[in-house]
Amino acid sequence: MKTGKALVNEFEQYIVDSIESDGALYKRIYRPIVENYARKKLGGIYDTEKAIKGVMPLVVMGIKKHTPAAEQYYGRKFDGVLKPGILLRQHIAVELVAGMQGEINDLVREKSKGKPVGKYGGYPQFQNPGSALRKATKGNPRIYPCPTCKRPNKLTAQDKARGYQCDACADRAEGCGCY
Ligand SMILES: [Zn+2]
Repeated sequence: MKTGKALVNEFEQYIVDSIESDGALYKRIYRPIVENYARKKLGGIYDTEKAIKGVMPLVVMGIKKHTPAAEQYYGRKFDGVLKPGILLRQHIAVELVAGMQGEINDLVREKSKGKPVGKYGGYPQFQNPGSALRKATKGNPRIYPCPTCKRPNKLTAQDKARGYQCDACADRAEGCGCY
């Protein structure tokens, strides 16, 4: 029979799996958190440390709800040294946030389709698939000359801020004859 750390690790994984497959928790808490984090990513203010803190209510609820089943499964009480403490909650939170990333990124892609992007934050939209240059928009017009060839109206403010050159010069620099 497993003891100590190995058992704690298994217990953590058991709770993570239980939370992720709990439809009621998903609808009430998990999904709203995912939507909130997707909004933060779109706004360029997503922060992993804060995201981990932000799932703590879900962790606490998940532990409370699923510990009885885990105790039944492992045939022992999770108390004393195995009592769900701060470190265990932290581990479960990290796992949950890692598991959320795919769903968050799907939502970010979905929401950023065709929408204008904020000045420097948000999901970057590119001029075309082969270009590092940002798409010209009303708020980000293409009005700056290329620093290399000096041709006018080649860069947006975002491109200029990143120190880019126009596509033709970038291709020449990379030895690519594809444009
Ligand atoms: Zn150029």
